Amino acid sequence: MIHLDYRSRIVFFNLFLYTIVFALVTFLAIQGIWYASIKEIKSELLETSKNAQLMIEQSLTISGEAATGPGENDPAAWFVSASPRLGEILENYSTGTVNLYDASGEPLTSSRLLNRPENYMLEEIATASSGQDAVSLRRFNNESAIWFASPLLSNGQIIGYYTEEVKLGQLESQLNLVLIFLLAAGFGGFIILFILTEHNANEFIKPIKDLTKISREIDNGNYNVFIQYKYDDEIGDLTAVFNEMTANINNIINQLQGEREQYGSVLASLDDGLLALDQKGNVIASNELLKTYFGVSNPRTIYDFTYQSFLRDIFDSLRNSQGYISEEVECNNRVLLLMGSPIHRKDLEENYMIIIRNITATRQFEREQQKFISSVSHELRTPLTTIIGYTDMLRRRQVTDPNLLDNSLSTINKEGHRLVRLVDDLLSASRLDTLEFTVRKSSVSLEEILRGVVDQMRVKGWQKEIEISFKSEPDLPDILGDYDRLSQMFINIIHNAIKYSDKGGLIDVILRQEDNEIVATVRDYGTGIDPDQKQLIFSAFYRVEEDRARNEGEGGAGLGLYLVKQIADKHNGHIQIDSEVGEGTSVSVFLPIPDVQFNTDDEEESHE
Ligand code: ADP
Repeated sequence: MIHLDYRSRIVFFNLFLYTIVFALVTFLAIQGIWYASIKEIKSELLETSKNAQLMIEQSLTISGEAATGPGENDPAAWFVSASPRLGEILENYSTGTVNLYDASGEPLTSSRLLNRPENYMLEEIATASSGQDAVSLRRFNNESAIWFASPLLSNGQIIGYYTEEVKLGQLESQLNLVLIFLLAAGFGGFIILFILTEHNANEFIKPIKDLTKISREIDNGNYNVFIQYKYDDEIGDLTAVFNEMTANINNIINQLQGEREQYGSVLASLDDGLLALDQKGNVIASNELLKTYFGVSNPRTIYDFTYQSFLRDIFDSLRNSQGYISEEVECNNRVLLLMGSPIHRKDLEENYMIIIRNITATRQFEREQQKFISSVSHELRTPLTTIIGYTDMLRRRQVTDPNLLDNSLSTINKEGHRLVRLVDDLLSASRLDTLEFTVRKSSVSLEEILRGVVDQMRVKGWQKEIEISFKSEPDLPDILGDYDRLSQMFINIIHNAIKYSDKGGLIDVILRQEDNEIVATVRDYGTGIDPDQKQLIFSAFYRVEEDRARNEGEGGAGLGLYLVKQIADKHNGHIQIDSEVGEGTSVSVFLPIPDVQFNTDDEEESHE
């Protein structure tokens, strides 16, 4: 079956309708003309037959008055004899071929009957013999004709028959001509109609095509579309509804997009990984952290986590209605706490949520805290043991030797100081983690601070016969800083330099300007630091273990450099360590010079 598109169907339907109507009209017109013509011919024939009757009656009357011979009173015989003359007269009055027949139905004018069929007028005369006029439409020699027969009467007796044959060839050819004209006109009309319908169909179809085009755009995800249609009709209504619909969809999409973005940003801003699953294990929601933790981005099902069987185990347990589940796993050098819980939804299937929390830092902190407690206990215990040992000895032995007494007291004093320093460091470190740690900044001279610290630490150095030199570029600008904290920072650095230098060593302290920073460098020629340890030594409580043994009696709790770094950070500075094992260490602190030199008004900054 041929498939026609909508436009072609409109064209085809119009033309089909036109053809039917035109054929009907043509048929009716031709038939109408035909029957009207036939009717007229019939009435003419009747008229002629009446005239013939009249003429015969008159002739009989006249011939009756002048009757002179035998048979003159026999109308039938008279008719036979008068028929040639009558035939001629009647022929002149009629349009067809006139023939007269005697009362027995024999032709009187047989000369006219050439080329006539066998049955010529037989039926008609038979009908006429019953006194009626007979009219038939006949066809012979490829031509239509009307055969007409009428009885001729005298005193109620049939004396003969009048027949006339009217050929319709001319009428037929006229009708053919009319038909040709009509067909030509019809064809012209067909062509015009075709062109017009084609054009109109295109016009009608255009909005539908526009609708289709725009629907495709919508199908491709572009809802920001609008159809222009200027008429207020059915298509206008459709386009209006369509435009309204796309606008609504657009609004809804924008709204959903907004909500999705909000929802996405909430998920993204979560500090925990999140995985929401349906009953089948399809992922309903997830966030970026999952990729960080498990290396799986945009998971579609729980089974995308190929290497994380623990997630599937939690999912299975949740599916088996085990309620809230929490589990700790180690994965990619992280300690992760997995918390699974069902999401109950009214009248709907249960979904599940797994929260993945990175507790590496917590666990690390706990470990460090543990380490710190044992380290601090050890550090506190060492001087306390010494102090108790000495005091016990002094008490027991009743020491009188002034030298021994002096040495013992000085050891007790030294250990007491060590305890105080340790407790000070601990206090500072604990304050660093609280809001209490404040940096009171004012314009300070680093040269002044360092000179004071070096003087103070020289005394300490002498105990190990260590010489500390101090050199500073002249006229260095002040910086913005906390005098006490900065002093504490340099004390820690120089103290380390002394601690990790051999007896009789040298320490150089140099202050200089580099671009817009002041650089304080403390250089020692001691044990040096292993490159692997360089980053770690700034962590709180971190100590290089073997140093502890080597410097027994000098070690701290691993807080010195941690404090140094925190104080440098608070002053927007940074620290650089250059060191080689066995060659010594150089610790440089870079502190920024403010753009504008300022008054000495204190500025306070809280630890955040
Ligand atoms: P501690 O109180 O143990 O000295 P710090 O935080 O001050 O703790 O230092 C951490 C570690 O860094 C020390 O254990 C030590 O091994 C190393 N260190 C610090 N300064 C020096 C230095 N000048 N020379 C060699 N090692 C150093």
